[in-house]
Amino acid sequence: MAELDDLPLRDDLRGLSPYGAPQKHVRIPLNVNENSHGIPEPVARDVVTALAGAVLQANRYPDREFTALREGLADYLGHGLTRDNTWAANGSNEILQQVLQAFGGPGRSVLGFPPTYSMYPILARGTGTTWVAGKRDADYAITPETAVREIVATEPDLVFFCSPNNPTGTPLALDTIEAAYDAARGIVVVDEAYAEFAPPDTPSALTLLPGRERLIVSRTMSKAFAFAGVRLGYLAADPAVADALRLVRLPYHLSALTQAAAVAALGHADELLATVADIAAQRDRMLAELPRLGFPTRESWTNFVLFGGVADPAALFDALLERDILIRDVGIPNHLRVTAGTEVETSAFLAAMAELAAQ
Ligand code: PMP
Repeated sequence: MAELDDLPLRDDLRGLSPYGAPQKHVRIPLNVNENSHGIPEPVARDVVTALAGAVLQANRYPDREFTALREGLADYLGHGLTRDNTWAANGSNEILQQVLQAFGGPGRSVLGFPPTYSMYPILARGTGTTWVAGKRDADYAITPETAVREIVATEPDLVFFCSPNNPTGTPLALDTIEAAYDAARGIVVVDEAYAEFAPPDTPSALTLLPGRERLIVSRTMSKAFAFAGVRLGYLAADPAVADALRLVRLPYHLSALTQAAAVAALGHADELLATVADIAAQRDRMLAELPRLGFPTRESWTNFVLFGGVADPAALFDALLERDILIRDVGIPNHLRVTAGTEVETSAFLAAMAELAAQ
């Protein structure tokens, strides 16, 4: 068998590692910020009925414009958005990839603010876009002044904000996005993958869209909607953005099954999102408990918690894994990240942490 190095791989991909969150079968998987709650059975049945209808017509290509889905997404988002303001793809990872294909590419750059979502530099690399790492303030915040300073210094073609931020949970104020938009010449993406877990009534970057044709707000059904396995990410933006993405997407990129499942799920948004309050409560439990055990935390507006005070992250990761609990080492020294699970899962995690802290 050949080695990867034996292949005529692109020079700029040599030596790189793929996205690699471990996929292990454990009793308590708290490593990739999924929703631990399953799909309620009546919702699942409705999705299956919709899938059956789609399968019966699977001899035909799906609606290339996924019109019903875009309408459902616009209805869900509100803010006066219409289907022309929305676009969808196989996970928000594909959304971000399409955005980079259309607006980045060779000779162009994207500015992000590490520590942030680990796929941003990987997607940049895959699309030939130069990744530029901006600096955050203390406590992982980004003030308007900091955002503007980094944009002026690096003149990127795109800016990626993650709001709230993965892996730190840090919220991002709208005035930072407004200031960044004014300072940037290119596209500003606000990745709101975890927006539904923010405190109720927190304004979304969606409120900033009117009059800002270079602003893109990206969302996903993988987290709050508990639909990670279906792969459905989406965005809201000026309709011209969808025109740009039509130039790079593959024809029929969203399968008829994906479209049918997502439309059916959006029809049950209230039931699916009913888990959000409980997940936020489990997150808040961890935010309160972990510091008492000697693991300091910071504010998190997401469904996960980054905690510090870990002398040996690899050892703690392994000790938890021995207890059938999988969390995430995101490469921040002395820190680990854990997803808020169900109450039972969260209790098991906290009990294991208490036991390990006492050793
Ligand atoms: N953005 C952020 C910040 C994420 O954390 C994730 C998933 N971990 C994604 C985007 C991608 O999610 P998906 O492709 O499942 O929509």
